[in-house]
Amino acid sequence: MEAFTDLATAAFCPRKLYYRRKHDDATPPDDVAATRNLAFRYSSLLNAESSLDAEPVVPEPSAYREALRRQRQRLDRWPDLVDPPSTRVFLSGKDAHGIAHKVLESPPAPAIVSTGKPPENGVWKPHSVRATAAAKALSWERQQPVETAYVEYPAFGDIRKVRMTTRRKATYRKALNTAESIDGPPPRLKNDNRCQTCEYADECGTRTRSLRSRLSRSR
Ligand code: SF4
Repeated sequence: MEAFTDLATAAFCPRKLYYRRKHDDATPPDDVAATRNLAFRYSSLLNAESSLDAEPVVPEPSAYREALRRQRQRLDRWPDLVDPPSTRVFLSGKDAHGIAHKVLESPPAPAIVSTGKPPENGVWKPHSVRATAAAKALSWERQQPVETAYVEYPAFGDIRKVRMTTRRKATYRKALNTAESIDGPPPRLKNDNRCQTCEYADECGTRTRSLRSRLSRSR
């Protein structure tokens, strides 16, 4: 049984998952909670009377509220996402378990809250895998299909609908196989932007390697 977060990390970089397990690093950083809590306060954040100055939102207040208003117009399940029937639900499926930050009903759909920035379109692969893991676990518990999940990026006032396509399920399955098969350090990513934000870059050696290759190019 794999954790949703491990599957997301496997989709990001298998070697990173190896380090996370080695160091038993499953606790999110302190600033994650404040950003994640934004997803549970959309009504008050939309209220023009309230100040956003102390909130961990990235766009300017007017742009942030405009982004939220767009979600309100665009998403058929906006009322459920603003006032979800269940929050922070532990789901346990056939292959994976973990927390869905919201669970909507009729039809059932999980929502995952990310503290990061959304991509131009769709969702990042680790978020897709985590949302798929939650949808599959919810489906397993309810014994009924779950066709949709949501990934929320509340620091940017953005919410993305994620359909359970064949391709998305295949990506999930690949991450599951990767997470289950790690028994030593997998290969490093090569010249990849992901390494720049990775907390294991020093231990992994990519920081040293990229410095060395920059130095050798400048000679
Ligand atoms: S530094 Fe790069 S290759 Fe190494 S674990 Fe992190 S993401 Fe993976």
